[in-house]
Amino acid sequence: MLYFLHMQLSFHGAVEEVTGSCFLVETSKAKILVDAGMKQGERICVTRSLDPFGFDVTKLDAVLVTHAHFDHTGRLPELIKLGYKGPIYMTAPTKALADIILEDSLKIMKENAERCGDPVPYSPEDKQMAISLIRGIGYHTEFEAAPGIKAMFHDAGHILGSSFVSLDIEERVMENGKPMRIIFSGDIGNEHIPILPETEPIHSADVVVCESTYGTTIHEPAAMRKIMLAEFAQKVLKRGGTLIIPAFSIERTQELLYEFDTLLLEKKIPSVPIYLDSPMAIRATAVYRHFQQYLHFDHPVMGADNDFFSFPSLRETMSTEESKLINADRRPKIIIAGNGMMTGGRVLHHLKRHVSDPLSGVLVVGYQAKGTLGRRILDREKTVRIYGEEYPVRAEVLAIEAFSAHGDKEKLLRWLHPEEGKVSKIFLVHGENPVKASFAEYLQKSLSAEIIIPQLAQSFEL
Ligand SMILES: [Zn+2]
Repeated sequence: MLYFLHMQLSFHGAVEEVTGSCFLVETSKAKILVDAGMKQGERICVTRSLDPFGFDVTKLDAVLVTHAHFDHTGRLPELIKLGYKGPIYMTAPTKALADIILEDSLKIMKENAERCGDPVPYSPEDKQMAISLIRGIGYHTEFEAAPGIKAMFHDAGHILGSSFVSLDIEERVMENGKPMRIIFSGDIGNEHIPILPETEPIHSADVVVCESTYGTTIHEPAAMRKIMLAEFAQKVLKRGGTLIIPAFSIERTQELLYEFDTLLLEKKIPSVPIYLDSPMAIRATAVYRHFQQYLHFDHPVMGADNDFFSFPSLRETMSTEESKLINADRRPKIIIAGNGMMTGGRVLHHLKRHVSDPLSGVLVVGYQAKGTLGRRILDREKTVRIYGEEYPVRAEVLAIEAFSAHGDKEKLLRWLHPEEGKVSKIFLVHGENPVKASFAEYLQKSLSAEIIIPQLAQSFEL
């Protein structure tokens, strides 16, 4: 009976590897969805998130989105297609980045549809309507997301505009007389990212739905990334090679540009052409420039251009023609090109040209899923297949894990200690199953909270 329902939380995604973030909060007065993500998978021709949502989307009062990544926003247009017409709340930079991401995924889905017959889950009109329903909300601005539910975004320090969101459920009063506070972590950023503010602490919370991507990992210290980047770039360039950096368009690319800007000014790497060969990354960098007040740089702006993301040797190649011209440049150079896991995009053309060249290098700065070309190169397989042809891997390959966009297990544990009071329940999501189990054990050693690993479509009365 509805009368007894104080608050129910159900998990409609991010509990298995194949699904994106999607959580439903219900009270007797309101229904709110937090995130509507699609899994970014290694399988190019299978869109697994086409399963039904598991609830009636037309009954939702509001949708809140933690950050722009596809596994948190990818299904927003589908909500529209299924009849949702309510507000979608997120920070203003998240809106700008989500627009870029959804546009790009629409393009990829269309290509997949032509190649493998996958259904396209939404139309350009659905995407446009989703964007038009978005209301930009600043950090620390309390708003009534739905009757009886007050919400607030807090900086998660993961990418530009990223947030964790707190919901105060007025109907569910705790022993201290305050409404139950539930927090959705979204993705929690790594420590000391040189262009982002640190993750905010939790002020207080009764329940936390927490990501666990790196629940078994301790990252190398952040200070190492710049040193490793400079050393590897120097080594490859000095011997006359080309350094290829497969780019994740949002956040990682801007961090790389920022590091190169600094390294060039400090004369720690030679001034060679640095190509940014990804239209999506070029667009995202413009958004980063526009929302600079949301960023936090670890040193004041240097250089005559007054820009953290450019330098005289930067070449942004937007068009295919400009991209092709890179081949004519025989000098030592750096090419940052999409996509990050090397499953498609312009980086493939550059890899064809350089992966068998022992003078050249491939720098991996992000997670490489099993089965991707990126993983094969990272595992130093003898040969790899690109566009149907075999190429021996002779280029030097280096991975720098400190570029990870997620906090490690120590960071997450610290974050789960609120400034006031204690968390009584923690739900672990967004991680591979063995990782979640081991992370739960790790947390249980120092936290008194009940730790739960929810299953898909499972509901909890809180
Ligand atoms: Zn993310």
